Amino acid sequence: ELLESQPRNAVIIACGNQKGGVAKTETATCLAYLLRERGARVLLVDCDSQGNASIHVGLTARRIDELEETRRTLYYAMVDDKTAFTDFILPTDEPRVDLVPAFMSLAEADFELASAKGLVTIKERLAEIRDQYDYVILDTAPNLGLVTIGAFEAADLLLVPVQTEAFALLGLKRLMQTVERLQHRKNRNLRVLGLLPTLFSARNSQDQASLEELQRNYGSRFPIFPPVPRATVYGQAAAAGVFTLSVGGKIPGRDAFEDVANAVRHAKETLHATA
Ligand code: ADP
Ligand code: MG
Repeated sequence: ELLESQPRNAVIIACGNQKGGVAKTETATCLAYLLRERGARVLLVDCDSQGNASIHVGLTARRIDELEETRRTLYYAMVDDKTAFTDFILPTDEPRVDLVPAFMSLAEADFELASAKGLVTIKERLAEIRDQYDYVILDTAPNLGLVTIGAFEAADLLLVPVQTEAFALLGLKRLMQTVERLQHRKNRNLRVLGLLPTLFSARNSQDQASLEELQRNYGSRFPIFPPVPRATVYGQAAAAGVFTLSVGGKIPGRDAFEDVANAVRHAKETLHATA
């Protein structure tokens, strides 16, 4: 009870890579699960108009439609500054993990941000609830549009899932340039937590080669976490609308996500020591 009443000062982690299908959403949900397993309060914010994170943690298509109709998704939190951000927050089936959902309406936000219609920023919205969570995890879209950039501007840490495949490194250079630009201008606090190789098949020589290439090109500048192997349980859990790590049995890749969770917890200690 005493703990409940203490302000929490969340660390904000964006999961980002403008390439689609690299396991950003999977990484965001697994990280949320592991952090809350260790007792933290976590808010997962779906910043992608595809709504994959919202569906992965249990919202049905029908429920998302309802939330869009009643204006309770992220887009409306950016448009409507009269409603408190807490009114957009939903519980999930996992204790201590909450969700701000997103869906198609969010696709409008990029356009409206570009035409300077004065939307409320993600950063401003998170400031309202930062003292209620230990971690906020932002699952971003496969683009570098203004909503994604807004998420990066709000973040303390950027976690970059990278698929170990032939063209994995092509977009990474651009992403890192964007991060540097943000660090110089809009968000001096932003730090790259590390790169997480994903969808790795140890027996595939191309996957091996791209993992080595990742190490060679980025290993001296950023931490590179152990690779998350391909396993069918991920797709099955996503389709069933449950957290993958809540499924029973040994989940391949859990140890890699544990390493990420440890790094996040360590970063939180460091951030708060210097704050
Ligand atoms: P992104 O958010 O970057 O677009 P997702 O997290 O949606 O990527 O993952 C892309 C697809 O790969 C999804 O169908 C997801 O279920 C699947 N997936 C994610 N991680 C794994 C994994 N380790 N093994 C197998 N499939 C995975
Ligand atoms: Mg996604």
